Amino acid sequence: MPAVLAIDAPERGATAKPSLAGLGRDGLKAALAAIGVPDKQLRMRVGQLWSWMYVRGATAFDDMSDVSKELRARLSEAYTLERPEIVAEQVSVDGTRKWLLRLPRRGHEARAPEIETVYIPEADRGTLCISSQVGCTLTCSFCHTGTQKLVRNLEAAEIVGQILLARDRIGDWPGASPPGDGLLLPDTERKITNVVLMGMGEPLYNFDNVRDAIAIATDGDGLSLSKRRVTLSTSGVVPEIPRWGAEAGTMLAISLHAVRDELRDKLVPINRKYPIAELLAACRAYPGLSNARRITFEYVMLKDVNDSLADARALVKLLSGIPAKINLIPFNPWPGTAHECSDWEQIERFAEVVNRAGYASPVRTPRGRDIMAACGQLKSESLKLSASERKVAAR
Ligand code: SAH
Ligand code: SF4
Repeated sequence: MPAVLAIDAPERGATAKPSLAGLGRDGLKAALAAIGVPDKQLRMRVGQLWSWMYVRGATAFDDMSDVSKELRARLSEAYTLERPEIVAEQVSVDGTRKWLLRLPRRGHEARAPEIETVYIPEADRGTLCISSQVGCTLTCSFCHTGTQKLVRNLEAAEIVGQILLARDRIGDWPGASPPGDGLLLPDTERKITNVVLMGMGEPLYNFDNVRDAIAIATDGDGLSLSKRRVTLSTSGVVPEIPRWGAEAGTMLAISLHAVRDELRDKLVPINRKYPIAELLAACRAYPGLSNARRITFEYVMLKDVNDSLADARALVKLLSGIPAKINLIPFNPWPGTAHECSDWEQIERFAEVVNRAGYASPVRTPRGRDIMAACGQLKSESLKLSASERKVAAR
C-alpha cells in the first residue's frame, strides 16, 4: 500500500511574510537592503545567507550563527525561509515520493496554485522531477498535465523551492537524518544527484525563470548540482533550444513520440509550428554534444498509434548522426485518457530494433504508478479563472 503522509493543511495566511528560500543573489541583496543592511555589507551578508540556505539547508534565521543576533532578529521580523507548502505527500511501494505543493497566492489569484514534484530513488542515483508551470499551454494528447490549462509560470524561487523542500523531506542536508518511513534511498552520499525538468509544464515557455533557477541550483558555492546532471525536457520549442544551450547548457531531452509529421501533429501539437526536421536541426546544433553528452529522445509507447516496427526502424534512421539516447516510455494511463499502453511484447520487439541499432537499455521503468507519480500523470486542481469568475471568487 502506498502511504499518504499529510493531507489538506489549511492555507497559510495571506498576510504571511515573504520567504527568502529560493531567491538568487540579486533577490537576497534587495531583501537585505530593504531592511536597512548598508550597501558595503551587502555582498558579505548575501554570501552568508547563501551558504546557510543552500549548503546547510537552514530553515530558521536563528541557526545562522555567524550572523549578528541583531540582524537575525531583523530578518525574522521581515522574512521567513519557508518552502512551498505541502498539501499531500505520498510514498509509493517502490520508494518514489510525490508531493502536492501549494504556492503562495498572488494578488489576483482566487486560489493558491498547486503543483507536483516527484522524487525517484535508484541504487546509484536519486532523481528529482520538478515542475516549471502550473498546468501547460500545450495539449499533447497522451499527457494528463495537458488537460489542465496554464494557470501561471512558476517564479525562479518556486522552482528552486521544490529542490529545497525535497532535500528537507528526505534528509538530504549535511548532518540531517533520513525520514524513518522505510523509504528506499540511493547509496550515494547526496540523495538528490539529478534534477529533471519533466514535471508539469513546458520549461522553455518559462525560459527566464527556469534558467535563473537552474543557475541557483548549479551554483558551486551553494546547491552545487552539476549541469550534466540537470536535464531539461521539451516538447520542441525550437527557437528556444539554441538559447537554452547558450544560456544554461544543461542536458537536453526531446519529447519526440512520433517519426512522421502527420502523426506528431496530432500527438504533440506544437509540431504544427515546429516540425520534426526543424526540431532535429536544432538538436544537431546543440552545443557540447558528444558520445558522453547525448540528447535523450523520449518516445511514449502508445498501442497501435506509434508502436509498429516500421516506426522503430524509422526512429533509428531519423536520429542517425545525432549523439542520442532513446528512452521508450510505457504510456502511463490517467482517468479519461483515450490512449492505451502498447503490449509488453510489442515494447520488447520495438526495443530490440532500437537496441540492435546500438542504443542500450532503451525502456524506461515506470515508477510510482500506484501514486500517479509516473511521467505525464501529474495534474493539480488549480484552475485558471476568467476575470469575471475571479471577481465572483474574490467576493
Ligand atoms: N513539457 C515537457 C516536460 C514534461 S513531460 C515535455 O513535454 O517534454 C516529461 C515526459 O513525459 C515527456 O516526454 C512527455 O511527453 C512524457 N509524457 C507525458 N504524458 C505521458 C504519459 N501519460 N505516459 C508516459 N509519458 C508521458
Ligand atoms: Fe505540456 Fe509536456 Fe504535457 Fe505536452 S507533454 S502537454 S508539453 S507537459
